[in-house]
Amino acid sequence: MLAERITGLLPPLTPNEALEVTAIHSIAGTLSPKVPLMTVPTLIAPHHSASMASLIGGGVGMARPGAISLAHRGVLFLDEACEFGGSQLEALRTAVEEGEIRIARRDGVARYPARFQLVLATNPCPCAPIRDVDCKCSPYERRRYFSRLSGPLLDRIDIRTRMRPIHAMDNADLGPPESSATVRERVTKARVRAAERWAEHGWQTNAEVPGPALRRHFRLPAKAMRLLDRGLETGFVSARGADRCLRIAWTLADLAEKDRPDGDDVGAALEFRDRRAA
Ligand SMILES: [Zn+2]
Repeated sequence: MLAERITGLLPPLTPNEALEVTAIHSIAGTLSPKVPLMTVPTLIAPHHSASMASLIGGGVGMARPGAISLAHRGVLFLDEACEFGGSQLEALRTAVEEGEIRIARRDGVARYPARFQLVLATNPCPCAPIRDVDCKCSPYERRRYFSRLSGPLLDRIDIRTRMRPIHAMDNADLGPPESSATVRERVTKARVRAAERWAEHGWQTNAEVPGPALRRHFRLPAKAMRLLDRGLETGFVSARGADRCLRIAWTLADLAEKDRPDGDDVGAALEFRDRRAA
């Protein structure tokens, strides 16, 4: 449900993005006659039994865009992510890193954009009981199941959280739920802040800012950087992970309407990467 809500929280596509997304769906033959121009981000949720061609792109004759390109500028949601094949997840990692996918054909290479928000959901083990205590898997089975999500792919997942079973009483003190529209307003504001800050450098979102620029030109207060250094020294985060933490910290600061992230934001970003949550 959370994954399905995310597209509703994202701002509408810019005219250029709308054209890109529409062109991809037009080539794939998935453009609805009722919506000739796609102006809002889409959610694409392929099943783990999907073929490589339908997930990544390909097929007979002209290489057609797959789910990862149909999700361009939107959300790609993989439920039961551990059930996907190793080569599929590997191709996915490449797309996440490069923002596009290249499909080799006999007479050339087809390139499609694939820049999406990736959401993965997985059970902690193959037997997937409602209560953790009912699990019948051995520690080896649990480890093996989870290791299907390779380290390099997991390293590119910025926010990890463990969902606990919902108990009736949990909702009692949360107050009325926020509507998607209210949250969307907050997201839009944060996006505008980021876009204004990076405009002179040609970036729009925190996700686009290269690591070296974050580390050298937009340094954070010493206290915040020390937290990150300690994470690197203890092996809690990789070098790539540290850059990704910085981007999350900037996003948290944008949501809180701060000029730049402080130690709390970096601390929260590190907590989101906690491997124990995974
Ligand atoms: Zn189990």
